[in-house]
Amino acid sequence: MLLTSRRLRAALLVAASATLVAAVLPGPEPLGIGDPLFPHLGNPGYDVLTYDIAFTYRANSKPLDAVTKIDARATKHLERINLDFTSGTVRAVEVNGGSAEFTTAGEDLVITPRQAVDAGSPLAITVTHTSDPKGGEAGGWVRTADGLAMANQADAAHRVFPCNDHPADKAFFTFRVTAPTGLTAVANGLPVAAVRGGAKAAATRTWVYRTRHPMATELAQVSIGKSAVLRREGPHGLPLRDVVPAAQRARLEPWLRKTPAHITWMEKKVGRYPFETYGVLLAQAETGFALETQTLSLFEMSMFTDTRYPKWYVESVMVHELAHQWFGNSVTPRTWSDLWLNEGHATWYGSLYAEEHAKQSLEDQMREAYTQSDGWRAA
Ligand SMILES: [Zn+2]
Repeated sequence: MLLTSRRLRAALLVAASATLVAAVLPGPEPLGIGDPLFPHLGNPGYDVLTYDIAFTYRANSKPLDAVTKIDARATKHLERINLDFTSGTVRAVEVNGGSAEFTTAGEDLVITPRQAVDAGSPLAITVTHTSDPKGGEAGGWVRTADGLAMANQADAAHRVFPCNDHPADKAFFTFRVTAPTGLTAVANGLPVAAVRGGAKAAATRTWVYRTRHPMATELAQVSIGKSAVLRREGPHGLPLRDVVPAAQRARLEPWLRKTPAHITWMEKKVGRYPFETYGVLLAQAETGFALETQTLSLFEMSMFTDTRYPKWYVESVMVHELAHQWFGNSVTPRTWSDLWLNEGHATWYGSLYAEEHAKQSLEDQMREAYTQSDGWRAA
């Protein structure tokens, strides 16, 4: 075809340039999966199967060196891949074995692989990065007197490691924590290995833990400190392990030995404990909360040492976090506005335990909560 009309040629040039523009990707932008409360959490287009996260710890005032490996499956054609991540420096990204370009947009790490990933294809992402424990009030790492712990609920896992930070996408986790000899690292799940550093790194030790069940990012836990790991047996041989400041173990033992009976009581109410292990992590930090991190619930140690807390109340909080292992952890909300499914059940069982064991009327506890609820809502 030969173009003869100038006007037609101009129209075709406009059409051609429009095609050119359409072929260029739009600018990187933070994406989400449409959670009504957290529109930018999670990311579309893939399903994470496993996280393998390696941290190298030196001191809780310094960023950790980290490598996060994600095995996922693309659920649609992806020219770009968004991960949730902030509070760290990204040094390199690989997608399916090839180096990839990356930038940040909002609290997303936006990755452009050399080759687009087809729907249904495996998607392997490796991010080499740092993880800054000075996140502060926003959550993520919690700096303790002797190291670090983690508190990611609801939207802070991506302040620690790159992830699809939404409970709608649960995955299996492996943590590899390298820390100076003399410190103990514990994470969700069971230990796989503890390896001393080689000749070059005799002063360090690497601890490896793996979950046997899928987990939401908000429930990840990594504890590093001068800790004692205390083991005992729960109902039907369930391995229990508590993580406490080593110097305080004798003082805390009367509380720790209550857990097997708590589990037996919960199992009578709702059925078999859903995970491979359980225990409490008592951190030397002022968090103002306890958190049901999967298989290893986080508490501030002062709750167990400050005698102003009534004993029935402390036990009720212990049962509350234990109940979350069923409600919130094993069964997980698909949107954050369904958080009441976690908290409603955990509050119910914590309060019921106090009624059955310490004559704290459940009705009175609920009436008190109802009286205060408008204030809590406002806060
Ligand atoms: Zn709760």
